[in-house]
Amino acid sequence: MKILLVSSEVAPFSKTGGLADVAGSLPTALRKLARVDARVVSPLYRMAKTSGFKIEKIKEVKGVPGFKDLAPFDLLQSKINSTTFYFIGKDEYYDRDGLYGTSQTDHPDNPQRFSFLCRAALAAMTDVEFYPDIIHTNDWETALIPVYRNIALSENHPLKKSKVLFSVHNLAYQGLFPREKTSDIGLTDQALDSITQWGKVSFIKSGIVFSDAINTVSKKYAKEILTQEFGCGLEGLLKNRKNDLYGILNGADYSDWNPETDKLIPVNYDARTLEKKAVCKSKLMSEMGLDLPVTAPLIGSVGRLTEQKGVDIITDSIDEILNAGAGLILLGKGEERYESVLKRVAAEKAGKVGISIDFNNRLAHMIEAGVDMFIMPSRYEPCGLNQMYSLKYGTIPVVRATGGLDDTIIDYSSDPESGNGFKFEKADAGDFIDTVKRAIKSFGNKDEWSRLQRRGMELDFSWKRSAREYVSLYKKVAG
Ligand code: ADP
Repeated sequence: MKILLVSSEVAPFSKTGGLADVAGSLPTALRKLARVDARVVSPLYRMAKTSGFKIEKIKEVKGVPGFKDLAPFDLLQSKINSTTFYFIGKDEYYDRDGLYGTSQTDHPDNPQRFSFLCRAALAAMTDVEFYPDIIHTNDWETALIPVYRNIALSENHPLKKSKVLFSVHNLAYQGLFPREKTSDIGLTDQALDSITQWGKVSFIKSGIVFSDAINTVSKKYAKEILTQEFGCGLEGLLKNRKNDLYGILNGADYSDWNPETDKLIPVNYDARTLEKKAVCKSKLMSEMGLDLPVTAPLIGSVGRLTEQKGVDIITDSIDEILNAGAGLILLGKGEERYESVLKRVAAEKAGKVGISIDFNNRLAHMIEAGVDMFIMPSRYEPCGLNQMYSLKYGTIPVVRATGGLDDTIIDYSSDPESGNGFKFEKADAGDFIDTVKRAIKSFGNKDEWSRLQRRGMELDFSWKRSAREYVSLYKKVAG
């Protein structure tokens, strides 16, 4: 079976969030599991150029049947673990800071940048004659692919037979653009009409309406998005595709996220040498300027600073967290309003709170290894990766019961036999703080806590499990 993953970000070349991890890990897991030839296409961003990985130009692509009016571009490639990663080189679109925009605003030419990615991916595969059974598209940035397949390709074009799977990693990001900004993206008026919603051209609508199947990154989120609360206005369209809608939890890449082998943490440890985690904790505390005993509960968080992630729930709770004797370490980048609040908190609570407004992979690993509890008070969470990483690091997740967080974390207080973390229902500071306090209470009982840690470390959220589910979904969709 041949699979082409088209993604607007792919680790380790470019990353803003979990999508990059999926695109970077799933292809290799598929090949190992079932000898699937899975390749990836993504843009050659400035971030990819400076990632330190060798990326070689294969050729310039131009004049491909079906895409004769598409501007020429470079096709490049890199191989990691025998997986082929293709890159679309088009400097005017991708050689700039910020994958999608800056913390203030989106790049104004995003409709051009990502429609180009979709068309170039199809043109490039035609050129190199890689004809996948499934084109696996991801989020709005690659959601136009089925429209181009349907209208740009002639009936005898080999890619016409490829089926399209559309993965929704986050329904809130839809790629909505005023019609006048989309006059040059290679779509007829009729095609643009078919993907218009609320008077705007909606890239995500194309994925929902024209793909052969849709999936989301957890079973719970697949159900949630059919409701008004989580559907972001798309619940009606999604309900029409209910029979083609699936949920597959993302995996954790344990070659990258494993305390036994992690090169980015001060000492390695496993379930038998858990006491070494204290070394990671004290190094992290000193790096972040925390002045607390190493026995104090240390709470951490890593993530985009957006409303989705409940950053305000965290900031509203800081005093109570500190009053409970805990220290707090936060790493994140995102909306300006949250960045400025957090900078102020960092200055006011120095010594007890360490905050880094940055995107820093090394520090993210240090935090997973160094903190005792990892908080994720998300308003919604399609899958969430950090709770799975946390479990592997003996770091106990404290999460809101939504999406993938609900699918992966069992509340310890209500189920002491199989609980692996702490979970709360309401997206408010009250419920969150009560749950953090429950966790802190258990932390006070060392035997209980280390049992909980070891239980989490033994769980398997690897890509192998997810890849198995993807293989059967691909087979089903390919028919
Ligand atoms: P989302 O995709 O919604 O951002 P996920 O939990 O699925 O959330 O994935 C987030 C990924 O991005 C994780 O691997 C996390 O460690 C990483 N990440 C997020 N913010 C940062 C940051 N500021 N620095 C380093 N890594 C980050």
